[in-house]
Amino acid sequence: MRDHLYINGQWVRPDLGGSFTTFNPATEEPLSEVPSATEEDIDHAVRAARKAFDRGWGQTRGAERAEWLDGLADELERNQADLARLEVQDNGKPLPEAQWDVSDAIGCFRYYANLAKELDGRQDQVVELPDERFRTRLRFEPVGVAGQIIPWNYPLLMAAWKVAPALAAGATCVLKPSELTPLSALELAAAADAIGLPAGVLNIVPGLGAEAGAPLSHHPGVDKLAFTGSVPTGSRIMSAAAQDIKNVSLELGGKSAFIVFDDSDVESAVEWILFGIFWNQGQVCSATSRLMVQEGIAPRLIERLVEATRSITIGNGMDPGVLLGPLISQEQYEKVNTFVNKGRSSSAKLLAGGARPAGLDCGWFLEPVIFDEPAEDALIWREEIFGPVLCVKRFKTEADAIRLANDSRFGLAGAVMSGDPQRATRVANQMRAGIIWVNCSQPTFTQAPWGGMKQSGIGRELGVWGLDNYLEVKQLTEYVSEEPWGWYLK
Ligand code: NAD
Repeated sequence: MRDHLYINGQWVRPDLGGSFTTFNPATEEPLSEVPSATEEDIDHAVRAARKAFDRGWGQTRGAERAEWLDGLADELERNQADLARLEVQDNGKPLPEAQWDVSDAIGCFRYYANLAKELDGRQDQVVELPDERFRTRLRFEPVGVAGQIIPWNYPLLMAAWKVAPALAAGATCVLKPSELTPLSALELAAAADAIGLPAGVLNIVPGLGAEAGAPLSHHPGVDKLAFTGSVPTGSRIMSAAAQDIKNVSLELGGKSAFIVFDDSDVESAVEWILFGIFWNQGQVCSATSRLMVQEGIAPRLIERLVEATRSITIGNGMDPGVLLGPLISQEQYEKVNTFVNKGRSSSAKLLAGGARPAGLDCGWFLEPVIFDEPAEDALIWREEIFGPVLCVKRFKTEADAIRLANDSRFGLAGAVMSGDPQRATRVANQMRAGIIWVNCSQPTFTQAPWGGMKQSGIGRELGVWGLDNYLEVKQLTEYVSEEPWGWYLK
């Protein structure tokens, strides 16, 4: 049934019967033919989600929703190994990374199951008032129907980050996965189907951005838009939300800085720098793609970094030992290569990579790239490339490093490494980004807030903040005094 949309608890054919093809990025061969939702299907899905919300899901107790979320986690866990392999075929990432993602997605459902239970205990909290004639209680109510649009870099995990907190809050969902990687989201629909999740609570509608994403973002029946993707699309989503004042949260792109001071250990710095830029082929919103190295350590560190980068095993994500898979698509491959060519013809020096790896004649593979000393206004230094491309600059003083790091329109993440904990903290506190890693880069936990400053987005996902994304806080204020109010009627 995976060649159907999942709407109102049923597998249905798209209204116009269309479909699109997905490809295995490691072989460039067609992988699947996926149903393509259009405006009519989106309308059916939003109506189903509305009905499910109004007819019960919105009023369920958190404890009950927690059982459904745990049920989804159990079902995903049963298929964990297959799901990881599917992610590799669909996205290209190395199998151990896909296994990590699937396990994180399951953990995300379990985490929000717990928060759903706790939500019951948060209801009717009393707010301290300066006037004892009144009593104010708080109710946390679900936002309604959530329209959720996600990218292709972490297909199942991004779906979990959206769906788990929304269902925990009591919202219902219409989720549009990326047209490049829709398969694991359809497996999530299958999990919902298998556990008998009430019809309409979770609707999964693969489709193209313009044909399915745009109608979802404009639909008047959607109360909340939650989007993860690029800045230009995020801007369109925000405009759509503005039309009827929808609640909107945006998780967008980045060009994150990694500052390494002279007193760092070279091996440890190189390990985290590689992890920060080459994990998931650099197709990571928080990738630390701008490296700033203090002058004293720079020669040793860069030499070791180049050597380690050249020895990364590249190949099909299913092959053991592979650490770097193909880019997601022909289009992404061309986009990244365009940046690499711009870098080559700039004043920056190419230190490593940039060619097709030997022996890999098909698949969208690229040797991991390091550019040295791009100009501060170079495109490769300023724009999000979303591929395995690292740019390095040297700095003299702490103030230089902070200025360079903050000189960006993005503010998603950043990292700082130093043997001096006080300096690391001082610098971390001055970096303008939503996530700062100290002496590491990228580790992400469901319990901690995720999101960016500046053009990297609005709002935070994960943790309690992720749940709050889908809640409306309501105050109930009661007059409890025995005395008459006595304003008009003295
Ligand atoms: P994208 O903006 O091209 O697409 C994202 C989603 O939006 C897809 O599902 C797409 O079909 C849909 N879409 C496209 N046009 C649309 C429209 N007009 N209306 C509604 N929906 C539309 O981004 P992408 O290439 O899939 O993902 C890469 C981007 O995502 C990068 O910029 C990356 O930094 C960002 N990202 C951010 C985070 C984060 O947490 N901040 C996480 C992952 C990815």
